[in-house]
Parts: sequence; C-alpha cells; structure tokens
Amino acid sequence: MDERNPLEESLLFTTLESIADVIRNNPLVKTVKHNAVVGDVVNWGRSSALWPMTFGLACCAIEMIAAGCSRYDTDRLGIVFRPSPRQSDVMVVAGTMTKKIAPAVKKLYDQMPEPRWVIAQGGCASAGGPYNTYAVVQGTDLVVPVDVYIPGCPPRPDALLFGFLQLMEKIKKENPFILEERKISL
Ligand code: SF4
Repeated sequence: MDERNPLEESLLFTTLESIADVIRNNPLVKTVKHNAVVGDVVNWGRSSALWPMTFGLACCAIEMIAAGCSRYDTDRLGIVFRPSPRQSDVMVVAGTMTKKIAPAVKKLYDQMPEPRWVIAQGGCASAGGPYNTYAVVQGTDLVVPVDVYIPGCPPRPDALLFGFLQLMEKIKKENPFILEERKISL
C-alpha cells in the first residue's frame, strides 16, 4: 500500500525548475519583480557577467582569441569564455558561415539557455562579407537572431570589445522578466 503523504510530496523539490516555479508564482516575488530597482539590479548582473561560447568559424575567430588574451583581456570586463553552449549566454559568430555549418550553429544556439544574445563579428557574419556565393550564408540573422553587428574584415579585438560594451548597454535597457512572462502567457 502506498503510504506517501501527498502534502509532503508537493513540498518535495526534485528539480531546480520546480523551485523556480514556486518562487515565480509567489505573489510577493511578483510584486518585487515590477520594481524598477530590481530590474536594474538583474540587468546589471546579467550585463556584468557575459559568458561567450568558445566557438569560431574562420579568420575573425583569431581576433576573438586575441581579445581573450592578455593584451585585451576580456576577463577584466566579466567576459569569460566557456567551453559549452549550456554554460554560455553569448554566441560570437566569428567568421564566414557556410550553408554546411549553419545547421550546427543553429543547434549550438538552441542548446544555450535563455537569456542569450548573439554578436555577429565581421563582414562575413554580418552580411556574407566578400563571399557572395551559393555556399555562404549572407548574414547570421538568416539563421539566428543577432543583437550586435561588428563591421570590418577582420574587426580588431578592440572592435569586438566595443561590441561587447554595446551589448551590455542593450541588456541594461531590456525587461529582464520578459521571457518569463512570455512563457507564462503561453
Ligand atoms: S570578415 Fe574577413 S576576416 Fe572575418 S571571417 Fe570574413 S574574410 Fe575572414
């Protein structure tokens, strides 16, 4: 005979998602969320700890690597490259995206948790660059949504740093709970 107490079971949190759901549906949390200061603090936290995925497609990736090295040192801005899409919130599309690699890029993007952002680094990632051919995707936005475009062939590491700073400014203006509200209304 099953002697489990249904009340006890309802209080048993088995996953982080169930804890998040309880917090999300708490009326107090809903009130706090609509406070502008809370939004600013959440956005400040998100914009101050961008974790880009370690991922490059072509020559622009060399500039991205240089941006992470000691001379430019993205770490000092809280930008720390991660080896897995599941730990990353920024995808830097660094290089020429061929039609062959595009499904893999989309797959990696789908594996990143929300909220996530995309930077198209260089002419190729922004609009196909010099390769107006049948084999090259003519812009990253044809595959995944892009937040910041960086012109140049290749853009220097400091241009990439400026792109990150622009992304930080953009994040600070976002509604940090918009995705959650969209999820609830579905
Ligand atoms: S924009 Fe220039 S440097 Fe960057 S991937 Fe294209 S060809 Fe290479």
